[in-house]
Amino acid sequence: MSNLNIENRMQKFYSSQSNMVPLHAAYGHFATSHSHINYYIDLTSLKTRISEARECAKLIEQNYRGKAMYVDTIVCMDGTETVGTYLAQEFEDHGYLTTNKHESIYVVTPEYNRNNQLMFRDNIATTIKGKNVILLMATTTTGRTITRSMECISYYGGTVVGVDSLFSTIKEVNGTPVNCIFTKDDLPGYEAYEPQDCPFCARKMQIEALVNGFGYSQYMAF
Ligand SMILES: [Zn+2]
Repeated sequence: MSNLNIENRMQKFYSSQSNMVPLHAAYGHFATSHSHINYYIDLTSLKTRISEARECAKLIEQNYRGKAMYVDTIVCMDGTETVGTYLAQEFEDHGYLTTNKHESIYVVTPEYNRNNQLMFRDNIATTIKGKNVILLMATTTTGRTITRSMECISYYGGTVVGVDSLFSTIKEVNGTPVNCIFTKDDLPGYEAYEPQDCPFCARKMQIEALVNGFGYSQYMAF
């Protein structure tokens, strides 16, 4: 491990589901809010390049095809709005049912309040109350963000009918399946550790960057 720029260390990995959407990851010692991980996973291109975002949306929709389900709203976390928008289009193109009177799907994002709780303002809350909601995440390791998001959606009166994460190391959260495009198997050697069990910390190696669903920040200056 070195202090080399993280961007220069990025390797490409492909999902077993598609060779059109690459995941970029850099080996090292990183901290999320809940765990330490040995790869920083960068989903920026999936979230921001429209060709990749559209391919992700197609893969996600295929999971639900033929289920005759209602989808009213897509709640996008971690900057997944572009994928969410294409996903809404896929649902509409494939004739999914919606209870929305305008017969179009809502794509929304919650805010964090001062207590770091997820919230929807009144004008957005109407797209959650009484609605069938798909929750769209970028990366999932512990599932705690999914749990919090589901609690928030439930509080605002919505029903979560599906949970999707572009990358996930877990298959379900509290009995709810987590569908994903990339699994741990697509990133050989990926490990997440409880901070107290982290082998890098045990060797007194510094954390290189703090990471979350939006990306990374390196606070160290050499
Ligand atoms: Zn560590």
